[in-house]
Amino acid sequence: MFGFDTNLSREELLGVLSSFGIAIPPTSKLPVESLQKRLRQAINASQAMPLVNARPPLDPAQYPKWPQGYKGLFDAIRRGNLQEAAMTQLAMREGQDPSPLYVNAFMDVRQTLMSLANNCETGFKHAVMQDLEKEKCAINLRVVDVYKIDERTPLLIVLYQSFSAANPLPGIQWVQEQMSKHHQMPNVNATELEQKLLLLILEMNSKRLPPGFTVKRLKSEKDFKLSFLLPMGPLSYHDIGKLNLNTGCVVCGHDINSRCSQCQSVAYCGIECQKADWPSHKAACRSLKGGEWTTMPFSSRMPGTLGMIGQLINLRDNFQSNMMAPMQTTDDTPPQNAYGNRLFLIKLQHTFGPGEGTFLIYDRKRTCVVYFLESKAPEVFKRFKAEITGPRGGNYGSGMFKMYRWAKRVGEQELSVCLDKVPNADSIKW
Ligand SMILES: [Zn+2]
Ligand SMILES: [Zn+2]
Repeated sequence: MFGFDTNLSREELLGVLSSFGIAIPPTSKLPVESLQKRLRQAINASQAMPLVNARPPLDPAQYPKWPQGYKGLFDAIRRGNLQEAAMTQLAMREGQDPSPLYVNAFMDVRQTLMSLANNCETGFKHAVMQDLEKEKCAINLRVVDVYKIDERTPLLIVLYQSFSAANPLPGIQWVQEQMSKHHQMPNVNATELEQKLLLLILEMNSKRLPPGFTVKRLKSEKDFKLSFLLPMGPLSYHDIGKLNLNTGCVVCGHDINSRCSQCQSVAYCGIECQKADWPSHKAACRSLKGGEWTTMPFSSRMPGTLGMIGQLINLRDNFQSNMMAPMQTTDDTPPQNAYGNRLFLIKLQHTFGPGEGTFLIYDRKRTCVVYFLESKAPEVFKRFKAEITGPRGGNYGSGMFKMYRWAKRVGEQELSVCLDKVPNADSIKW
């Protein structure tokens, strides 16, 4: 009743999803409910909810409390993975701010979680979150208690309420009550979009508390909602793949009724979606026209590298919850399909010498790093080799050959590659 309109518009949903790493094309006609569902799944995945509790309710009383003074809370709430660490390093090397605030709602929420934890450690359990202009919307929030699910997983019980500029009075009363006790009010800047995302997370989590769970409230908190916050980490490789999956029409996901007649490589439910997709498909289509699609089996692992530390680290695995994870190699399970049935660019690399008999293949985002081994399909391998060493391939000297091609996932361990067509230069923004 005091709050601002927390509904995420379609455009906002797409933006927030992309901040989680779920890239749905802006032309997509996936219904809003389906986008909302994906966002909820992304939030659960980010909070590692299945690890914490398979089903609601989550009863905090079953866990011990975080020790007095909240020492170590900030470190425990941080999450990351190697992929993100690599991106940060890259940004810093290029002189950019590795995590610019206020452009990525998901990153912003994670930064806010860290601020809250940091404030707890320095003795402040209350905060006001406000948009930069301080005139649209705000969330008053107090950390009531912190439980310890395990060494690296704190559970923050919070009371909160959102306010709009149109009706700020109840919010001001709470601020005054807090000020009279603590004489300071930590202020956390949060864009309207971040606030909307945070409120969605809190609303989802509040339903997971058992009905009988209560906390002591201040006088000005009688209308506050009760919920909890958990550490939030970047989504794992597996989750990103699952949430990007879009079977059926590449635009809306409905049943397939037609294909692009020019290139035969993308499928739609009908003419309307095909038209909507044309601006983004155009470049790929032109370079695919008349191309020959060749199916190639792949392996997730180079033979002979079993147990080789560092070779096959899953870059998207969250390592904060298990510090040893980066040291483990993955098995031969195929990477999740991060593209659904959409086309994506791959880079193929072949080296003569000791590595003869293999292609290294990966996409720009490195969600799919796989090998094509000669022994798996010698005839197909011959054609790939002829292509990469031929006039459309790229000789980089010292026996090293590289080429880019359009590809799509056609099976658990199969890619279909448009082998004889070179993608046009402006689509290769590697
Ligand atoms: Zn469609
Ligand atoms: Zn086409």
